[in-house]
Amino acid sequence: MTVEAFVAALKKAGILLTETQVKQFHQYYELLVETNEHVNLTAITEQHEVYLKHFFDSLTVAQYVTSLQTTNQTLIDVGTGAGFPALPLKIAFPQLRVTLVDALQKRVRFLKTVVEALGLDHVTIVHGRAEDIGQEQRFREQFDYATARAVARTSVLAEYTLPFVKIGGQLLVMKGANAQQELGDGEKALHTLGGRFKEAFDFQLPNGDKRFIQIIDKVQKTPKKYPRQAGTPNKKPIQ
Ligand code: SAM
Repeated sequence: MTVEAFVAALKKAGILLTETQVKQFHQYYELLVETNEHVNLTAITEQHEVYLKHFFDSLTVAQYVTSLQTTNQTLIDVGTGAGFPALPLKIAFPQLRVTLVDALQKRVRFLKTVVEALGLDHVTIVHGRAEDIGQEQRFREQFDYATARAVARTSVLAEYTLPFVKIGGQLLVMKGANAQQELGDGEKALHTLGGRFKEAFDFQLPNGDKRFIQIIDKVQKTPKKYPRQAGTPNKKPIQ
């Protein structure tokens, strides 16, 4: 996807980028590729691919959850890696207040560089594991939305993310072809952690790749014992 195709596809979806925002995406791309030469951030470095599979893909969630586009929502992105999906969302919708969490220090360092270079405000960057941070009162049940892309299967992801979401908020699950199977396997975990499946959208990226966005409402408090100790959700998912 060329930069022009990226801007046009967003426009078609009702998302209009200013010149400054287009420049910010370009700066982000350059920093990603530059840093990736010495720090492992992503396997995708070709410009057309980054614009499609990282930038455009990250923004699809706002096409279905449109309140991300217009109001001062708080969003936590767990296992954000090089910033996906939260940083493209922040660039496109500057009023969002985003918190980025990742367990790898070198990725966190990269995120700080991008946020500073692009002059983004209301971005909090946290180094650590979701299981530890989810037990901290200042983060627990504080957010309108949680996202996580390519971090873990849904049963595990639920334990990494739902403790952060306030009652009335939503977990936005972004998945590829296995989404429905994972959702079925994660049903018990979602329920145990205070979530309830609301709806799902399936669509294709412009290259034909299948994508699903599943919306989970946070309807009850997450019991205090969750998230369990670091490593446990992945080793023993709630089933
Ligand atoms: N979300 C990004 C994306 O879609 O490109 C990154 C995906 S990358 C495959 C997974 C990221 O999740 C890694 O950066 C890893 O450090 C982070 N991660 C995995 N488990 C985690 C945990 N329990 N807590 C915090 N971060 C975690």
